Amino acid sequence: MSRRRGIPFVVAAPSGTGKTTVCRRLVAEDDQLEFSVSHTTRPARNGETDGVDYYFVSRQDFEALRAEGAFLESAEYNGNLYGTSWDTLHKLREHGHDVLLEIEVQGARQVRAGEPDARFIFLLPPSMKELEARLHGRGTDSAETVRKRLRWAEGVELPAIDLFDYAVTNDNLKTCIEDVRAILAGERAGETGALRRRFDPSAARDRLVGS
Ligand code: 5GP
Repeated sequence: MSRRRGIPFVVAAPSGTGKTTVCRRLVAEDDQLEFSVSHTTRPARNGETDGVDYYFVSRQDFEALRAEGAFLESAEYNGNLYGTSWDTLHKLREHGHDVLLEIEVQGARQVRAGEPDARFIFLLPPSMKELEARLHGRGTDSAETVRKRLRWAEGVELPAIDLFDYAVTNDNLKTCIEDVRAILAGERAGETGALRRRFDPSAARDRLVGS
């Protein structure tokens, strides 16, 4: 019997929504789900490991891989290049794993165009005010950087929500993870109608705008 081919799940969110925490928990608690390790030209941060968090490569090597067609998608974000390689995705899927792509929205747009099997989940903050408060609260960004991230969220990230199949609000971390898990389970079972109505992206965006 041939093995089931894994499903690629794309998760994107404005910076400050809690995407990394949600994604880490999902992968840690779901044996069928593997994290897609991306390539990046960003220098490794403290505690990050090459081959685990990212494949850290030079801009020259990244460009060479991109020219060879090695990437399903790639994008520049904050002055660094990021990309998901076909090789990473294929290997995991062929072993029957579902694959979590934690990427930003320019890349998500390319996956939508290039990988018809992928499913798209957008994480939202409960309100724009709360997003701003979380960004300030992290204490890692200057006031100017926070303003830039908010402008990027409103001008680039939120308008891309229509590309996504589901929008989940991260108000409470536990509930958010349960909601995403329900979506993964529904997609695996091929039972998605009620979920797509419950987590409808355009309704979620309308709730958020002006909040
Ligand atoms: P960070 O540098 O903070 O790890 O990531 C910055 C942004 O790049 C995050 O939104 C992250 O999800 C996104 N990102 C990480 N890997 C990829 C990738 O392979 N492709 C794209 N398009 N974005 C990525």
